[in-house]
Amino acid sequence: MKSAVVTGGASGIGLAVAQRLRADGMHVATLDLNPTDDEFAFTADVTDRGQVDEALGAIRAKLGPVAVLVNAAGLESFKRFSEIEFDRWQRVIDVNLNGVFHCVQAVLPDMIEAGWGRIVNISSSSTHSGQPFMSAYVAAKSAVNGLTKSLALEYGPHGITVNAVPPGFIDTPMLRKSEERGYLAVQQSIESTPVRRIGRPEDIAAACAFLVSEEAGYITGQILGVNGGRNT
Ligand code: NAD
Repeated sequence: MKSAVVTGGASGIGLAVAQRLRADGMHVATLDLNPTDDEFAFTADVTDRGQVDEALGAIRAKLGPVAVLVNAAGLESFKRFSEIEFDRWQRVIDVNLNGVFHCVQAVLPDMIEAGWGRIVNISSSSTHSGQPFMSAYVAAKSAVNGLTKSLALEYGPHGITVNAVPPGFIDTPMLRKSEERGYLAVQQSIESTPVRRIGRPEDIAAACAFLVSEEAGYITGQILGVNGGRNT
């Protein structure tokens, strides 16, 4: 049985990914700022390398070396660019980009040792065309797409694939919070989505389940949009 780590696993997409990988027969540990009741849920801030390394140590002790990493922890932020305080800009970059840096670096030694690994980074469909009032978030997520491609080239020879999944509009607490604050009109988004529905966390989990499978071993450095056909 392979061991997987899912960041942001306490809510929304990360939670659905963790549930799906477990159903597919993996040992799954989650890393999140918020605790859950799950036996393999670890509380850590992905921006803090000390906390990530400590959690990874505990995960390895319980579940063995990590073969799969899905980076789903994320933080959205809405503000006109000229009004963003630098601290806020930095926090958004820290969670969405530097968190991926820390978690990937922390699990790579296990994957290199095994000669096998799967990494999936959850970016965002907003990277296709930009999104007003979300410049920090879109900048970070665009960097995650670029990082994904570079890592695929560096670690392909080690049997490690690295792909990104940019979700469209997915019904999670993050999305509903954006709607409540008036930054998103869900009904309007559905009408402009070719498949005419909002995405479910399970839609993203299904793509991740495929990308981390044995049979996806020839797919790396790819950005696999899961967005109902709406590339914005
Ligand atoms: P969510 O808010 O439901 O879940 C995000 C999780 O990340 C939360 O449990 C939160 O506690 C955790 N998290 C945040 N900061 C963290 C940190 N510093 N350390 C550890 N954990 C942290 O949101 P979601 O919609 O499920 O988002 C999951 C991912 O998908 C995010 O990366 C998000 O940017 C991305 N995404 C979501 C949508 C969407 O429509 N929901 C669209 C595009 C991209």
